[in-house]
Amino acid sequence: MSWKDRIRKVEPYVSGEQPKLEQMIKLNTNENPYPPSEKVQAVLQSVNADKLALYPNSDAETLRTALAEFWQLDESQIFIGNGSDEVLSLSFLTFFNSDKPVFMPDVTYPFYPTYCDLYGIKYVKQAVDADFHIQAKDYVAENGGIIFCNPCNPTGISEPLDLIEQILEQNQESVVIIDEAYADFSGQSAIPLLDKYENLLITRTFSKARSLAGIRLGVALGSSYAIGKLYDVKNSFNSYCVDMIAQEIGLASIQDTEQMLANVDKIIATRTWFSKAVEKLGFVSTDSQTNFVFIRCEQFSGQTLYDRMYNKHIIVRYWDKPGISDWVRITIGTDEQMKQVLDFLSKLMREA
Ligand code: PMP
Repeated sequence: MSWKDRIRKVEPYVSGEQPKLEQMIKLNTNENPYPPSEKVQAVLQSVNADKLALYPNSDAETLRTALAEFWQLDESQIFIGNGSDEVLSLSFLTFFNSDKPVFMPDVTYPFYPTYCDLYGIKYVKQAVDADFHIQAKDYVAENGGIIFCNPCNPTGISEPLDLIEQILEQNQESVVIIDEAYADFSGQSAIPLLDKYENLLITRTFSKARSLAGIRLGVALGSSYAIGKLYDVKNSFNSYCVDMIAQEIGLASIQDTEQMLANVDKIIATRTWFSKAVEKLGFVSTDSQTNFVFIRCEQFSGQTLYDRMYNKHIIVRYWDKPGISDWVRITIGTDEQMKQVLDFLSKLMREA
């Protein structure tokens, strides 16, 4: 048998395209169209390259203390990693270690099945209803863990806290991971439930509302017990947390939450007028609580919408998957960008 036959076979997650053309309107990866806090810029200007000769603080202590204060949790309840993708991956490795399948909705962040395949974790996708909502009753059977994002990528829909609590109530023997990558936009979080449920793990990111996708900073919040176990696994893999610059930038960002909230407000205002305007054109849009919209129309398939926009240098996201192949996901950009998208969509609808 050749060494090539023994290579671990995986089907990698494919992230949104990074276009080469400058003039592209890039609305495919839910990035923030506005820059991060000026305090972040100040950190970058003051970076002393000499310090890079040393390893970073392995526990990111200062950042961890600031995050604990920010979320009013104990430091032992905070885990810091290189983007929430890494935090999620390590969480799957740590907590989803059972013969029973992990449950996830069938419309959700497509990276979850990829982690399961990488680690050989069995999983079952539970169907969402016709309006893309999760049903608590689908999460009552025996399972090896539960994962979903709230609000959901790609639908933008946010489930209420009582549904999350119902799922936690029913699953005290499993770890329930709620991926809150977009929670800064919905204004709702499961964090208050952490006091009550030791098996709840919440992941957050600096990539979306905090405009820091490029720095790769993600966080898990949970019970001290769960976070301790997550660090044990992480420290068996890479004992340094995140790089020195990411630690300082994260700190600067968390100290300027007002700027983040101002950008969130701007994005929500843009999302609100854009959704109404596309609905007037005949599109259906979900009740998004995020920095993107999820829309479809009768006249064009998701693939056609995607292709037609792409040809006009507007990149959005589309999945050829059952249940969502009629839909496209459009990240909310600046007002200017969204006006251009709207202009294009109204021309397209006139043609139909
Ligand atoms: N979770 C969800 C639901 C996402 O949409 C994303 C971004 N694609 C992530 C996690 C990962 O974000 P990051 O690794 O940039 O923190």
